[in-house]
Amino acid sequence: MTSLAAESCGAELSPVDFIQLQQYMEYSSMRVKDVVKEFNAGGKLVQHRSGDRVNRTGFSLFLKSYLEADNLPTELCQHLYQYFQESEMCKEKHKDGIISSLDFTTKLLKDGVCLKSMSCYFSVLEEGKPRDKLEFTFKLYDKDGNGYLDKSEVDSIITQMMRAADYLGWDVTELRSLLEDTMTAIDADSSGTVTQQEWIVGGMNNVPLQVLLGLKIAEQDSQHTWRMKNFTKPTYCCVCDGMLMGLRKQGLCCSVCKYMVHSRCANKNPAPCVRTYVKNKAEIGVPMHDWIRTESDASKCDSCSKKIKTLTGKRCAWCHHKRHDECVPLGSSECDCGPLRDHILPPWCISPLLKEDEGHGSCAEKPLMNMTSEGTHLHITPPPQTHPLLVFVNPKSGGKQGDRVMRKAQYFLNPRQVFNLNSGGPSPGLHFFRNLQQYRVLVCGGDGTVGWILDAIDKADLPVNPPVAVLPLGTGNDLARCLRWGGGYDGSDLREILKEVEAGSVVPMDRWSVRVTPNNPQEEGDPVPYEIINNYFSIGVDASIAHRFHALREKNPQKFNSRAKNKLYYFELATSETMSASCKKLSDYLSIECCGVPLDLSSMDLQGIAVLNIPSMHGGSNLWGESRKDEAESVTNFPDVIIDHDTLKTRSQDMSDKRLEVVGLMSALEMGQIYSGLKSMGRRLAQTAQITIRTLKALPMQIDGEPWMQPPCTIQITHKNQANMLMASPFKSTGFFHLK
Ligand SMILES: [Zn+2]
Ligand SMILES: [Zn+2]
Ligand SMILES: [Zn+2]
Ligand SMILES: [Zn+2]
Repeated sequence: MTSLAAESCGAELSPVDFIQLQQYMEYSSMRVKDVVKEFNAGGKLVQHRSGDRVNRTGFSLFLKSYLEADNLPTELCQHLYQYFQESEMCKEKHKDGIISSLDFTTKLLKDGVCLKSMSCYFSVLEEGKPRDKLEFTFKLYDKDGNGYLDKSEVDSIITQMMRAADYLGWDVTELRSLLEDTMTAIDADSSGTVTQQEWIVGGMNNVPLQVLLGLKIAEQDSQHTWRMKNFTKPTYCCVCDGMLMGLRKQGLCCSVCKYMVHSRCANKNPAPCVRTYVKNKAEIGVPMHDWIRTESDASKCDSCSKKIKTLTGKRCAWCHHKRHDECVPLGSSECDCGPLRDHILPPWCISPLLKEDEGHGSCAEKPLMNMTSEGTHLHITPPPQTHPLLVFVNPKSGGKQGDRVMRKAQYFLNPRQVFNLNSGGPSPGLHFFRNLQQYRVLVCGGDGTVGWILDAIDKADLPVNPPVAVLPLGTGNDLARCLRWGGGYDGSDLREILKEVEAGSVVPMDRWSVRVTPNNPQEEGDPVPYEIINNYFSIGVDASIAHRFHALREKNPQKFNSRAKNKLYYFELATSETMSASCKKLSDYLSIECCGVPLDLSSMDLQGIAVLNIPSMHGGSNLWGESRKDEAESVTNFPDVIIDHDTLKTRSQDMSDKRLEVVGLMSALEMGQIYSGLKSMGRRLAQTAQITIRTLKALPMQIDGEPWMQPPCTIQITHKNQANMLMASPFKSTGFFHLK
């Protein structure tokens, strides 16, 4: 009986499932507590709940919305569902003793899964400490739920880990013996079984296991941030000096300091990772090289100019100078931080905030990221004559690009100046840099991410308004394009981009408040996506295209993975007849006033209205078009509103002139032509400092590319403030680092 019950309790969640789940979670912005709310009265999923249980359909809808993935593998869904059902059954069995297999099956069929245990499990994975996650995996592997892993369970872990490793693309040739050794080591008392305690302690000290489980353990400041890496050229282990062998020349590499080791050597006390701050007062402000073992790429010693042979040299983490091991003490110890010195926030400028300094000011929220592992708060002593770069990365932008940019930034700069927006948003970074007078911000993400940071800067009420540069990830990115940062990151050398940021010039950018007041407060439309316009606002044909486009992209994300294809879809959508039908004769349903001056739209067969702040829209198309610059015009003050057709012809767009451009769009066909580059502009209607639009029927609208349907309303757009943006120089530095 016991064996049958034990079999039935097989929780069918494999490490592959577990890894998949974690990967989805990493790219989702949803919090479990927010999705679970939908099962409450009034929520979208309430019909799938009875009592405290959720049925199969409800569970899979929950997963889809929680993981923000419409195309979630059915198997993963099923496995998770079964996992929750069966783990619960096991608990019950242990509580009540033996239950009959009949009861067992009927219960399974009848009941869904427990809402409470679902939310509990996912929230552990969401914000859990490595310790909690290890506990979670222990329960995952302890199939019979008896509190320890026996020989057969350990064997199956090894087999399953191998499968997981294979899924992740690891070279498994040396892995089996490594895992076997690992499991023997984890069984600290050699009892033949592994207790939960042994598993957690062992896991915390076992690097390959953590990497494999996707656990990012950096509980001590000197610990490396490991990831698995394949090497294309001969590479040596920094611990044992041996070559990284095997089919794929694989090893673990620290993304912060590039220290490389065999998987098996990662547990053998490797040299500590580079320091990111200083502990003693005496070290503050003292620039010192930080030497770390480097792999030789036939480079020369900066001290004696002789070649550095394999495994005989060191590299400074900040200035990237290289020296022979024996030349390290010979040369000067003073570090100038190298070519990126203007950006780097060196460790000697970061130190623990002493207790006596801490008392004043309102530090209600103490951002986690700015603490040492011992829980000491860090603060910055402003470095003289530099502009440390505060980097925000949205790892979810542009597929895996965000991850890569994040690692590169951590390597070239101090990891403490690089913030992952996925953990904690913008405030930890803004808070940390707050007492600096001179610094720049680099946002790595899409236009939406930039808007998020600009809002956060507004709300943080900072003593100085730092200029913001953009490294565009993903597609679209009109704002980035206007600021000459390009439409999307092409994977080029991050150091070159950082040099461009340094050479950029500050431009104020207008930001506009938009207030939408429905005529009938009872009538519910979609929520208005933003209260601020950074890029553009539109009604009608343009917005409805975006609306359709948005819905389509949700359905077939794989079709929307290249910028070229995006343009093609716009064209196809815009030419479809049904599209434009709803926006025909727009002027019958809408009126526009610019600074109190009504626009006469009656003579035009408008199907769309666009209000522009920046000269780019939808990936590079320009609705206002170029103007021949009239010199007299560009110098003098111009009126709040211009509607005269001839004067409008001479006006060009400027993101800091406190004016909006209003453009009329004739037909869906015209829109399609504009997006696909066949035609370059719409009809110029006005240039204005303020605009009021009234609508008489429900119309599609969009702000900065986010579409929604809006019932009849009044829209007021007024100037809010200006943000400091960094614009790239039109003359880009060419291959500064390639010359080296
Ligand atoms: Zn080694
Ligand atoms: Zn490291
Ligand atoms: Zn140095
Ligand atoms: Zn030397």
